[in-house]
Amino acid sequence: MRPDLLNPLFVEAASLKGVGPGVQRPLDKLGLTRVRDLAYHLPDRFVHRRVVACLSEATVGEQVVIPLTPVEYRGGGSARAPFRVMAEDAAGAVCALTYFGRNSGWARKQLPLNEKRWVAGRLDQFGPSLQIVHPDHVNPQGEGQSLGQLTEPVYPLSEGLTQGRLTALIAQALTHLPQLPEWIDPALVERMGWPDWHTAMTQAHRGEHKEARDRLAYDELLANALALMLVRSRNRRAAGQALVGDGRLRARLALPFQLTGAQTRSIAEIEGDLAQSAPMLRLLQGDVGSGKTVVALSALLIAVEAGTQGALLAPTEILARQHYDTLRRMAAPTGVTIALLTGRDKGRAREAILMGLLDGSIDIVVGTHAIFQEAVQYRNLAMVVIDEQHRFGVGQRLSLTQKGRRTPHCLAMTATPIPRTLTLAQYGEMDVSKLDELPPGRQAIDTRVVAAERLDDVAAALSRHFATGQQAYWVCPMVRENEMADLAAAEARHAELAARFGDDAVLVHGQMRPEAKDAAMERFASGAAKLLVATTVIEVGVDVPNATLMVIEQAERFGLAQLHQLRGRVGRGSEKSTCLLLRGDGLSEIARERLALMRETQDGFRLAEEDLRLRGGGELLGTRQSGDTPFRVATLDQITRLLPIAHDDARLLVEHQGGLDSAPRADAARVLLYLFERDWGVQLLRGG
Ligand code: ADP
Ligand code: MG
Repeated sequence: MRPDLLNPLFVEAASLKGVGPGVQRPLDKLGLTRVRDLAYHLPDRFVHRRVVACLSEATVGEQVVIPLTPVEYRGGGSARAPFRVMAEDAAGAVCALTYFGRNSGWARKQLPLNEKRWVAGRLDQFGPSLQIVHPDHVNPQGEGQSLGQLTEPVYPLSEGLTQGRLTALIAQALTHLPQLPEWIDPALVERMGWPDWHTAMTQAHRGEHKEARDRLAYDELLANALALMLVRSRNRRAAGQALVGDGRLRARLALPFQLTGAQTRSIAEIEGDLAQSAPMLRLLQGDVGSGKTVVALSALLIAVEAGTQGALLAPTEILARQHYDTLRRMAAPTGVTIALLTGRDKGRAREAILMGLLDGSIDIVVGTHAIFQEAVQYRNLAMVVIDEQHRFGVGQRLSLTQKGRRTPHCLAMTATPIPRTLTLAQYGEMDVSKLDELPPGRQAIDTRVVAAERLDDVAAALSRHFATGQQAYWVCPMVRENEMADLAAAEARHAELAARFGDDAVLVHGQMRPEAKDAAMERFASGAAKLLVATTVIEVGVDVPNATLMVIEQAERFGLAQLHQLRGRVGRGSEKSTCLLLRGDGLSEIARERLALMRETQDGFRLAEEDLRLRGGGELLGTRQSGDTPFRVATLDQITRLLPIAHDDARLLVEHQGGLDSAPRADAARVLLYLFERDWGVQLLRGG
């Protein structure tokens, strides 16, 4: 149960004054559904304004507050032409206040002729004259001071929200903040000069208070570290079952290759863990193409050899299906029974699988999260492999491992090479096996950066490529904030390529119905289609060795880690592979450097470290990362500086100060976990 004192923070944002249906949608889009979310929606930067008496005191480009008197209205006759209010300062110098769109009525009301107004906004040069486009504030005479919020936050927005609107809502949310107990070690608070939580919250919205921002970031990092630490400590104490395989199934595997040294080592590490009754909690980290699947299969077979069942969880239907096919092929000579279970299986077929899992006639099940639903019961599930584990939250991961009567062993796999600092953040202290050696015979992928204007050349190169019988991928960017436009662009690109290559070009994107998506994937995987045009859904796991050309459009919009993942889709067979990174023009220095790095190296771990270096630091407030860290508040720079401290502090609390039951800070720490919704940590604590 969430502590009562947090209740005001978890009230729906919809209950705030002025939140109608029009604002609700853009708020939802930003993930701002509760008072808490608004409070934690921190400014990207601040505008600093200066009060000036007349225009000659200000410089072009400066944010000012200035008294002006409207003298004439111009334009605004059509909806397209801007409406201008010509206004004079005290010295008679003129500045235009310019409004685009249908704003003239509103502007006339705010700026009646011959009445002095305080105007706030950015002073720009427009031809020979000065202008302020869409002033941020216009207040009547005498109210200049109140309008002079000289420092104002600038928040990340979504379509349908204005800065003013969001600022007002957040200000309202901040009035609901409770006082919370201190969960940080007082000595640390003192040493860092951090304010208390309530103060930090208000300061962070008011200006560039580094200490306040750091404190809020630290809270988040500590919550995460604590929750992971609790998982770890509970896992150490949980009752699992020791699995000792006799090797009879593994000996019969039909592998067309020899295991690499790294694969052999990882399997041995897993075997060692499984032989213990404490449940394994191990991360298998290996670049794309490093051969994680056979390691996973070996772990599952050990479980079967020991008379229990195994499950392989994939993040998408496509991947589940592919794993199912691969495992069945490799394991055919072993005679183990493998089933596929996804959300789409219904009726009889599903019943039969559920029955097989319950009576133990199915040894291994491959599927999406459907395999862990309430209705799915196992005879004795002892080994769970989670593929592309970063796609699942830790909470989800945990609920998965609660299925067996005894806690199953868990092997989490990821192809995302994570920099050291972030490994700790994502996985806490999981044991790690690394596949740091690629299977032999892989050729380097010839990577080139090509200007987008040369699209025709690229299409011609595709023709030549298909003539050799090989296949290709064409990837279009897709980001949440820009979803509709991106989708349209991908569809347009596919149409264009289909005009040239006909049925040979298939399209796959995240918004398609699963059946249509699978059908397209199937045509490509079977070789019937030559070109797969896709948004980033192919990022994880797809394996078509005959596809040896990868084209990535607007490559500068992808992160390095993502580019690396995508590129890893080719270079899987014996033929030489090529990756073309199409870039737009006007690239920033950093974007240039990133693309150059892609050309230079194929080492995923190096790319991950460089990515962190290129993105981290630099900006005062930094940039919050969405996808690739589990954090919303902490920036990469803060993660790098503060995570190690948070980690040590969490360990101190959990292991040495008697855990969350008896540590002096225990109650406060529990509040923190709920505040950041890492309460699965608390629940675990109670359960274990
Ligand atoms: P990952 O899941 O780590 O990206 P996969 O398990 O899909 O990699 O393996 C990539 C490809 O390499 C597959 O076609 C697989 O059959 C092949 N492979 C795996 N291990 C070896 C090996 N030791 N030698 C040669 N090929 C291998
Ligand atoms: Mg894989």
